[in-house]
Amino acid sequence: MLRPREVVPGVSMFPVRTPTLPPATHTNTYALGREEVLLVEPATPYEDERREWLAWARGREGRVVGVLATHHHVDHASAAGAFARALAVPLLAHPSTVERLTDLDGVTVRALSDGEKLVLGHASYRVLHTPGHAPGHVCLWNAAQKTLIAGDMVANGSTILIPPDDGGDMADYIAQLERLLDLGATTLLPAHGEPIDDPHAVLTYYVKHRRMREEKVRAAFVRLFAEFGRAPELHELVPLAYDDTPAHLHLIAAAAAEAHLVKLRREGRLDP
Ligand SMILES: [Zn+2]
Repeated sequence: MLRPREVVPGVSMFPVRTPTLPPATHTNTYALGREEVLLVEPATPYEDERREWLAWARGREGRVVGVLATHHHVDHASAAGAFARALAVPLLAHPSTVERLTDLDGVTVRALSDGEKLVLGHASYRVLHTPGHAPGHVCLWNAAQKTLIAGDMVANGSTILIPPDDGGDMADYIAQLERLLDLGATTLLPAHGEPIDDPHAVLTYYVKHRRMREEKVRAAFVRLFAEFGRAPELHELVPLAYDDTPAHLHLIAAAAAEAHLVKLRREGRLDP
């Protein structure tokens, strides 16, 4: 059983079990602040986990002032309404997240916007709107501690999907990774996996890896187009563009390939 622990001074982490993308099995929730506490990721749909989480939330030393969802995915926000009601606090989320959530009856919603500052006693966090993985995705930046609450921008030990059929956008995602790189963070606190203490290396790898994949998707498209005299289907393109990825992951790879194709098409880079 994963127990809550303080990962950075004033930041406590509680991983809860969620229906997330394997091999991950949990979503990290965070309590930010001491005197005033903001709870990030109302994540779990499971009753037993919800009970434990609420006991943890109510046991905080400071006053709980809100619940924040980094984005609308089920492994991040499925308890958004339930937790906000149970704790009688507002839900904080980007408007593009709020419009995708259900079960918000009786909940006060505070819409977040890029650049706004959240003050929690002695701590303060800057809201960064970082679309790409999801349209309303936000990160929280603590400049004093050079620590970023990273949501699903990066994960430790699993992959980040960019689902084009659910508001994912590869161009936005890569642009936002580059923006995060510019922060000069020393710690990234992802929603899945352990804290990341070499953000520069990890973010650089993410950007490089996505650009490498984009080039492979483009090359495969161009080659198959020439061969077939028509645009290739995803199932024809994936084995070529992901020839370094095990075949059982090709279904997931197809969604990523689609996201790359959308970006390439928009940039006019699939024209022969
Ligand atoms: Zn997600």
